[in-house]
Amino acid sequence: MKRIVIAGVTGSIGTQAVEVLAGNDAIAIVGMGAGRRAGELFDLAAQAGVTELALAAERFAEQVPDGVTLRVGVGSIEALISELKPDLVLNALVGYAGLSVTRSALESGADVALANKESLVAAGHLVKELAAENGCEIIPVDSEHASLAQLLEGVAPNEVSSLTLTASGGPFRGWTAERMANVTVEEALNHPTWAMGGKITIDSATMMNKGLELIEAHHLFGFPYEDLNVLVHPQSIVHALVELADGMQLAHMGMPDMKAPIAWAVEGRTRRNIGVAPLGLAAVGSLTFEEPDLTAFAALPLAIAAGSRGGSAPAVLNAANEVAVTAFLEGRIPFGEIIPLVAGSLGQLEDLPGSTFAELDEADSAARALTAEAANAIEVGA
Ligand code: MG
Repeated sequence: MKRIVIAGVTGSIGTQAVEVLAGNDAIAIVGMGAGRRAGELFDLAAQAGVTELALAAERFAEQVPDGVTLRVGVGSIEALISELKPDLVLNALVGYAGLSVTRSALESGADVALANKESLVAAGHLVKELAAENGCEIIPVDSEHASLAQLLEGVAPNEVSSLTLTASGGPFRGWTAERMANVTVEEALNHPTWAMGGKITIDSATMMNKGLELIEAHHLFGFPYEDLNVLVHPQSIVHALVELADGMQLAHMGMPDMKAPIAWAVEGRTRRNIGVAPLGLAAVGSLTFEEPDLTAFAALPLAIAAGSRGGSAPAVLNAANEVAVTAFLEGRIPFGEIIPLVAGSLGQLEDLPGSTFAELDEADSAARALTAEAANAIEVGA
Protein backbone atom coordinates (compact mmCIF):
# COMPACT_ATOMS: atom_id res chain seq x y z
CA MET A 1 0.00 0.00 0.00
CA LYS A 2 1.39 3.37 -1.04
CA ARG A 3 1.21 6.03 1.71
CA ILE A 4 0.51 9.67 0.91
CA VAL A 5 0.39 12.90 2.90
CA ILE A 6 -1.68 15.76 1.49
CA ALA A 7 -0.38 19.22 2.38
CA GLY A 8 -2.85 22.04 1.75
CA VAL A 9 -5.78 19.65 1.85
CA THR A 10 -8.54 22.24 2.30
CA GLY A 11 -7.83 24.01 -1.00
CA SER A 12 -9.24 23.25 -4.42
CA ILE A 13 -6.48 20.73 -5.37
CA GLY A 14 -6.45 19.10 -1.92
CA THR A 15 -10.19 18.46 -1.73
CA GLN A 16 -10.25 17.08 -5.27
CA ALA A 17 -7.33 14.78 -4.41
CA VAL A 18 -9.28 13.40 -1.42
CA GLU A 19 -12.22 12.78 -3.74
CA VAL A 20 -10.03 11.02 -6.34
CA LEU A 21 -8.22 8.87 -3.75
CA ALA A 22 -11.51 7.71 -2.21
CA GLY A 23 -11.78 5.53 -5.30
CA ASN A 24 -8.30 4.00 -5.02
CA ASP A 25 -7.67 1.10 -2.60
CA ALA A 26 -3.95 0.94 -3.39
CA ILE A 27 -3.14 4.33 -1.86
CA ALA A 28 -3.73 5.27 1.77
CA ILE A 29 -3.88 8.89 2.88
CA VAL A 30 -1.89 8.74 6.13
CA GLY A 31 -1.69 12.43 6.97
CA MET A 32 -3.21 15.79 6.10
CA GLY A 33 -2.08 19.35 6.65
CA ALA A 34 -3.84 22.69 6.29
CA GLY A 35 -3.15 26.36 6.89
CA ARG A 36 -5.92 27.71 9.08
CA ARG A 37 -9.25 26.12 8.18
CA ALA A 38 -9.41 23.68 11.11
CA GLY A 39 -13.07 22.73 10.68
CA GLU A 40 -12.60 21.79 7.04
CA LEU A 41 -9.42 19.87 7.88
CA PHE A 42 -11.28 17.84 10.55
CA ASP A 43 -14.18 17.15 8.16
CA LEU A 44 -11.90 15.95 5.35
CA ALA A 45 -9.91 13.80 7.80
CA ALA A 46 -13.10 12.18 9.12
CA GLN A 47 -14.30 11.59 5.57
CA ALA A 48 -11.03 9.88 4.57
CA GLY A 49 -10.39 8.15 7.92
CA VAL A 50 -7.17 10.05 8.62
CA THR A 51 -6.01 10.68 12.21
CA GLU A 52 -2.55 12.29 11.76
CA LEU A 53 -3.06 15.99 11.11
CA ALA A 54 -1.22 19.32 11.07
CA LEU A 55 -2.51 22.89 11.16
CA ALA A 56 -0.22 25.87 10.58
CA ALA A 57 -2.47 28.24 12.56
CA GLU A 58 -2.10 27.97 16.33
CA ARG A 59 -5.55 29.23 17.18
CA PHE A 60 -8.85 27.78 16.05
CA ALA A 61 -12.35 27.53 17.46
CA GLU A 62 -13.17 23.90 16.66
CA GLN A 63 -12.81 20.97 19.03
CA VAL A 64 -10.11 18.45 17.99
CA PRO A 65 -12.03 15.25 17.18
CA ASP A 66 -11.45 12.12 19.33
CA GLY A 67 -8.68 9.87 18.10
CA VAL A 68 -7.00 12.65 16.10
CA THR A 69 -3.38 13.62 16.69
CA LEU A 70 -3.04 17.29 15.74
CA ARG A 71 0.26 19.10 15.39
CA VAL A 72 -0.09 22.89 15.36
CA GLY A 73 1.96 25.91 14.38
CA VAL A 74 4.38 26.98 11.72
CA GLY A 75 6.41 23.95 10.62
CA SER A 76 3.80 21.43 11.78
CA ILE A 77 3.10 20.08 8.27
CA GLU A 78 6.84 19.63 7.74
CA ALA A 79 7.06 17.80 11.10
CA LEU A 80 4.14 15.57 10.13
CA ILE A 81 5.95 14.58 6.93
CA SER A 82 9.26 13.89 8.69
CA GLU A 83 7.48 11.73 11.26
CA LEU A 84 5.25 9.75 8.92
CA LYS A 85 7.82 9.28 6.14
CA PRO A 86 5.21 8.75 3.41
CA ASP A 87 6.02 7.47 -0.08
CA LEU A 88 4.46 10.54 -1.66
CA VAL A 89 3.53 14.06 -0.61
CA LEU A 90 0.95 16.04 -2.55
CA ASN A 91 2.05 19.62 -2.04
CA ALA A 92 -1.03 21.74 -2.69
CA LEU A 93 -0.05 24.75 -0.62
CA VAL A 94 -0.27 28.17 -2.22
CA GLY A 95 2.77 30.43 -2.39
CA TYR A 96 6.36 30.45 -1.18
CA ALA A 97 5.19 28.88 2.09
CA GLY A 98 4.96 25.63 0.14
CA LEU A 99 8.71 25.49 -0.50
CA SER A 100 9.53 24.21 3.00
CA VAL A 101 6.98 21.41 2.54
CA THR A 102 8.63 20.39 -0.74
CA ARG A 103 11.99 20.39 1.04
CA SER A 104 10.73 18.31 3.98
CA ALA A 105 9.18 15.80 1.62
CA LEU A 106 12.35 15.37 -0.43
CA GLU A 107 14.56 15.28 2.68
CA SER A 108 12.41 12.48 4.11
CA GLY A 109 12.74 10.53 0.86
CA ALA A 110 9.21 11.10 -0.46
CA ASP A 111 8.31 11.74 -4.07
CA VAL A 112 6.43 15.01 -4.52
CA ALA A 113 3.27 15.51 -6.55
CA LEU A 114 3.74 19.22 -6.96
CA ALA A 115 0.85 21.63 -7.25
CA ASN A 116 2.86 24.33 -5.46
CA LYS A 117 4.48 25.89 -8.53
CA GLU A 118 6.15 28.54 -6.35
CA SER A 119 8.59 25.86 -5.03
CA LEU A 120 10.06 25.53 -8.51
CA VAL A 121 9.68 29.18 -9.48
CA ALA A 122 11.61 30.46 -6.47
CA ALA A 123 14.08 27.64 -5.96
CA GLY A 124 13.90 25.31 -8.96
CA HIS A 125 17.61 24.61 -9.24
CA LEU A 126 17.96 23.80 -5.51
CA VAL A 127 14.77 21.73 -5.38
CA LYS A 128 15.93 19.64 -8.34
CA GLU A 129 19.32 19.08 -6.69
CA LEU A 130 17.63 18.00 -3.47
CA ALA A 131 15.37 15.59 -5.35
CA ALA A 132 18.35 14.04 -7.15
CA GLU A 133 20.37 13.71 -3.91
CA ASN A 134 17.50 11.84 -2.25
CA GLY A 135 16.51 9.77 -5.28
CA CYS A 136 13.05 11.34 -5.35
CA GLU A 137 10.76 12.30 -8.19
CA ILE A 138 8.89 15.54 -8.71
CA ILE A 139 5.64 14.89 -10.54
CA PRO A 140 3.81 17.96 -11.81
CA VAL A 141 0.15 18.47 -10.91
CA ASP A 142 -0.20 21.76 -12.78
CA SER A 143 -2.37 20.81 -15.77
CA GLU A 144 -0.06 22.12 -18.50
CA HIS A 145 3.00 20.48 -16.96
CA ALA A 146 1.26 17.18 -16.28
CA SER A 147 0.22 17.26 -19.94
CA LEU A 148 3.77 17.99 -21.11
CA ALA A 149 5.19 15.22 -18.91
CA GLN A 150 2.72 12.78 -20.45
CA LEU A 151 3.46 13.94 -23.99
CA LEU A 152 7.21 13.70 -23.43
CA GLU A 153 7.02 10.13 -22.11
CA GLY A 154 6.87 8.70 -25.61
CA VAL A 155 9.42 10.95 -27.33
CA ALA A 156 13.22 10.86 -27.48
CA PRO A 157 14.58 14.12 -26.00
CA ASN A 158 16.58 14.97 -29.13
CA GLU A 159 13.40 14.83 -31.22
CA VAL A 160 11.74 17.71 -29.31
CA SER A 161 12.27 21.24 -30.56
CA SER A 162 9.96 23.28 -28.29
CA LEU A 163 7.21 23.11 -25.68
CA THR A 164 4.04 25.19 -25.63
CA LEU A 165 1.86 25.95 -22.62
CA THR A 166 -1.63 27.09 -23.45
CA ALA A 167 -3.37 29.85 -21.50
CA SER A 168 -7.08 30.61 -21.40
CA GLY A 169 -6.22 34.32 -21.44
CA GLY A 170 -8.30 34.83 -18.32
CA PRO A 171 -11.34 37.10 -17.95
CA PHE A 172 -9.60 40.08 -19.61
CA ARG A 173 -8.41 38.45 -22.82
CA GLY A 174 -8.41 41.04 -25.60
CA TRP A 175 -8.50 43.97 -23.16
CA THR A 176 -5.99 46.82 -23.07
CA ALA A 177 -4.03 47.65 -19.93
CA GLU A 178 -6.08 50.88 -19.58
CA ARG A 179 -9.38 49.02 -19.67
CA MET A 180 -8.13 46.52 -17.06
CA ALA A 181 -6.62 49.11 -14.73
CA ASN A 182 -9.57 49.43 -12.35
CA VAL A 183 -11.49 46.16 -12.64
CA THR A 184 -13.07 44.91 -9.42
CA VAL A 185 -11.96 41.87 -7.42
CA GLU A 186 -15.17 40.10 -8.48
CA GLU A 187 -14.45 40.72 -12.17
CA ALA A 188 -10.88 39.46 -11.78
CA LEU A 189 -12.03 36.35 -9.93
CA ASN A 190 -14.48 35.44 -12.69
CA HIS A 191 -12.29 32.95 -14.58
CA PRO A 192 -13.86 31.74 -17.84
CA THR A 193 -12.81 28.07 -17.80
CA TRP A 194 -11.08 26.92 -14.59
CA ALA A 195 -12.47 26.96 -11.02
CA MET A 196 -9.46 27.61 -8.76
CA GLY A 197 -8.36 29.39 -5.59
CA GLY A 198 -8.17 33.20 -5.29
CA LYS A 199 -4.41 33.69 -5.72
CA ILE A 200 -4.09 31.59 -8.87
CA THR A 201 -7.27 33.09 -10.35
CA ILE A 202 -5.86 36.61 -10.01
CA ASP A 203 -2.56 35.33 -11.44
CA SER A 204 -4.54 34.03 -14.42
CA ALA A 205 -6.20 37.42 -14.88
CA THR A 206 -2.81 39.19 -15.02
CA MET A 207 -1.28 36.19 -16.85
CA MET A 208 1.45 36.06 -14.19
CA ASN A 209 0.28 32.49 -13.71
CA LYS A 210 1.55 31.63 -17.19
CA GLY A 211 4.79 33.46 -16.49
CA LEU A 212 5.31 31.44 -13.30
CA GLU A 213 4.44 28.30 -15.28
CA LEU A 214 7.14 29.06 -17.88
CA ILE A 215 9.72 29.16 -15.07
CA GLU A 216 8.23 25.96 -13.64
CA ALA A 217 8.46 24.28 -17.08
CA HIS A 218 12.05 25.43 -17.51
CA HIS A 219 13.04 23.62 -14.29
CA LEU A 220 10.85 20.55 -14.79
CA PHE A 221 11.86 19.81 -18.37
CA GLY A 222 15.23 21.53 -18.68
CA PHE A 223 14.37 23.60 -21.77
CA PRO A 224 15.82 27.08 -22.31
CA TYR A 225 13.30 29.95 -22.29
CA GLU A 226 13.60 30.48 -26.05
CA ASP A 227 12.18 26.97 -26.56
CA LEU A 228 9.19 27.55 -24.27
CA ASN A 229 6.10 29.18 -25.78
CA VAL A 230 2.73 30.45 -24.60
CA LEU A 231 -0.33 30.24 -26.81
CA VAL A 232 -3.65 31.77 -25.80
CA HIS A 233 -6.43 29.21 -26.25
CA PRO A 234 -9.70 30.41 -24.73
CA GLN A 235 -11.48 27.03 -24.80
CA SER A 236 -8.83 25.42 -22.49
CA ILE A 237 -9.22 22.08 -24.28
CA VAL A 238 -5.62 21.73 -25.51
CA HIS A 239 -3.49 21.93 -22.35
CA ALA A 240 -0.04 21.74 -23.88
CA LEU A 241 1.81 21.03 -27.12
CA VAL A 242 5.16 19.45 -27.93
CA GLU A 243 6.79 20.48 -31.18
CA LEU A 244 8.87 17.74 -32.77
CA ALA A 245 11.97 17.91 -34.94
CA ASP A 246 9.99 16.96 -38.06
CA GLY A 247 7.65 19.93 -37.66
CA MET A 248 4.76 17.86 -36.25
CA GLN A 249 3.16 18.69 -32.90
CA LEU A 250 1.65 16.50 -30.18
CA ALA A 251 -1.28 17.95 -28.25
CA HIS A 252 -2.72 16.84 -24.91
CA MET A 253 -6.46 17.50 -24.87
CA GLY A 254 -9.38 17.10 -22.56
CA MET A 255 -12.08 18.91 -20.65
CA PRO A 256 -10.58 21.44 -18.21
CA ASP A 257 -10.92 19.35 -15.03
CA MET A 258 -8.08 19.31 -12.49
CA LYS A 259 -9.08 15.82 -11.33
CA ALA A 260 -7.30 14.37 -14.38
CA PRO A 261 -3.78 15.74 -13.69
CA ILE A 262 -4.26 15.23 -9.93
CA ALA A 263 -5.12 11.55 -10.37
CA TRP A 264 -2.33 10.99 -12.91
CA ALA A 265 0.24 12.56 -10.58
CA VAL A 266 -0.77 10.96 -7.26
CA GLU A 267 -1.56 7.55 -8.73
CA GLY A 268 1.92 6.93 -10.14
CA ARG A 269 1.51 8.31 -13.67
CA THR A 270 -1.41 6.01 -14.41
CA ARG A 271 -4.88 6.68 -15.80
CA ARG A 272 -8.35 5.42 -14.97
CA ASN A 273 -11.94 6.63 -15.19
CA ILE A 274 -12.32 9.24 -12.47
CA GLY A 275 -15.51 10.78 -13.76
CA VAL A 276 -14.05 13.53 -15.95
CA ALA A 277 -16.61 14.45 -18.62
CA PRO A 278 -15.68 13.00 -22.01
CA LEU A 279 -14.35 15.45 -24.56
CA GLY A 280 -16.79 15.86 -27.41
CA LEU A 281 -14.85 17.76 -30.02
CA ALA A 282 -17.89 18.17 -32.25
CA ALA A 283 -19.77 19.73 -29.33
CA VAL A 284 -16.84 22.07 -28.61
CA GLY A 285 -16.97 22.91 -32.32
CA SER A 286 -13.87 25.02 -32.72
CA LEU A 287 -10.54 25.43 -31.03
CA THR A 288 -8.95 28.85 -31.45
CA PHE A 289 -5.42 30.04 -30.76
CA GLU A 290 -3.77 33.45 -30.63
CA GLU A 291 -0.45 34.96 -29.58
CA PRO A 292 -0.48 36.52 -26.08
CA ASP A 293 -0.62 40.33 -25.96
CA LEU A 294 2.69 41.11 -24.26
CA THR A 295 1.87 44.81 -23.91
CA ALA A 296 -1.43 44.38 -22.07
CA PHE A 297 -0.10 41.38 -20.13
CA ALA A 298 3.33 42.64 -19.12
CA ALA A 299 3.60 39.88 -16.50
CA LEU A 300 4.67 37.43 -19.18
CA PRO A 301 7.82 39.21 -20.44
CA LEU A 302 8.58 40.22 -16.85
CA ALA A 303 8.53 36.58 -15.71
CA ILE A 304 10.63 35.42 -18.66
CA ALA A 305 13.19 38.14 -17.90
CA ALA A 306 13.31 37.13 -14.21
CA GLY A 307 13.62 33.46 -15.16
CA SER A 308 16.44 34.21 -17.59
CA ARG A 309 18.23 36.35 -14.98
CA GLY A 310 18.11 33.39 -12.60
CA GLY A 311 19.66 33.56 -9.12
CA SER A 312 17.24 35.20 -6.70
CA ALA A 313 15.27 37.08 -9.40
CA PRO A 314 12.48 34.49 -9.79
CA ALA A 315 12.09 34.38 -5.98
CA VAL A 316 11.76 38.17 -5.94
CA LEU A 317 9.24 38.05 -8.81
CA ASN A 318 7.19 35.48 -6.92
CA ALA A 319 7.31 37.22 -3.52
CA ALA A 320 6.48 40.65 -4.95
CA ASN A 321 3.59 39.12 -6.88
CA GLU A 322 2.20 37.36 -3.77
CA VAL A 323 2.24 40.63 -1.83
CA ALA A 324 0.71 42.63 -4.70
CA VAL A 325 -2.04 40.07 -5.34
CA THR A 326 -2.96 40.00 -1.64
CA ALA A 327 -3.10 43.81 -1.61
CA PHE A 328 -5.44 43.74 -4.62
CA LEU A 329 -7.66 41.02 -3.11
CA GLU A 330 -7.92 43.09 0.07
CA GLY A 331 -8.99 46.13 -1.94
CA ARG A 332 -5.86 48.14 -1.13
CA ILE A 333 -4.49 48.60 -4.66
CA PRO A 334 -6.06 48.69 -8.15
CA PHE A 335 -5.66 45.71 -10.46
CA GLY A 336 -3.47 47.74 -12.80
CA GLU A 337 -0.85 48.26 -10.08
CA ILE A 338 -0.13 44.56 -9.44
CA ILE A 339 2.43 44.03 -12.20
CA PRO A 340 4.08 47.51 -11.93
CA LEU A 341 4.68 46.74 -8.23
CA VAL A 342 6.36 43.45 -9.14
CA ALA A 343 8.44 45.15 -11.84
CA GLY A 344 9.43 47.86 -9.34
CA SER A 345 10.72 45.37 -6.78
CA LEU A 346 12.58 43.38 -9.45
CA GLY A 347 14.18 46.59 -10.64
CA GLN A 348 15.23 47.77 -7.21
CA LEU A 349 16.53 44.64 -5.54
CA GLU A 350 19.97 43.41 -6.39
CA ASP A 351 20.26 39.82 -7.50
CA LEU A 352 21.73 37.29 -5.10
CA PRO A 353 23.27 34.14 -6.59
CA GLY A 354 20.54 32.08 -4.91
CA SER A 355 22.88 29.21 -4.21
CA THR A 356 21.31 28.29 -0.86
CA PHE A 357 17.76 28.10 0.44
CA ALA A 358 18.71 30.64 3.14
CA GLU A 359 19.71 33.12 0.48
CA LEU A 360 16.38 32.67 -1.31
CA ASP A 361 14.53 33.17 2.00
CA GLU A 362 16.47 36.41 2.36
CA ALA A 363 15.51 37.53 -1.16
CA ASP A 364 11.89 36.55 -0.50
CA SER A 365 11.73 38.59 2.72
CA ALA A 366 13.39 41.62 1.16
CA ALA A 367 10.98 41.55 -1.80
CA ARG A 368 7.97 41.23 0.52
CA ALA A 369 9.04 44.20 2.63
CA LEU A 370 9.82 46.39 -0.37
CA THR A 371 6.61 45.52 -2.22
CA ALA A 372 4.45 45.97 0.88
CA GLU A 373 5.91 49.43 1.39
CA ALA A 374 5.30 50.37 -2.25
CA ALA A 375 1.74 48.98 -2.07
CA ASN A 376 1.01 51.05 1.04
CA ALA A 377 2.01 54.16 -0.86
CA ILE A 378 -0.72 53.54 -3.45
CA GLU A 379 -4.20 54.78 -2.68
CA VAL A 380 -7.09 52.99 -4.33
CA GLY A 381 -8.79 55.25 -6.82
CA ALA A 382 -5.96 57.79 -6.68
MG1 MG B 1 -1.69 25.61 -14.93
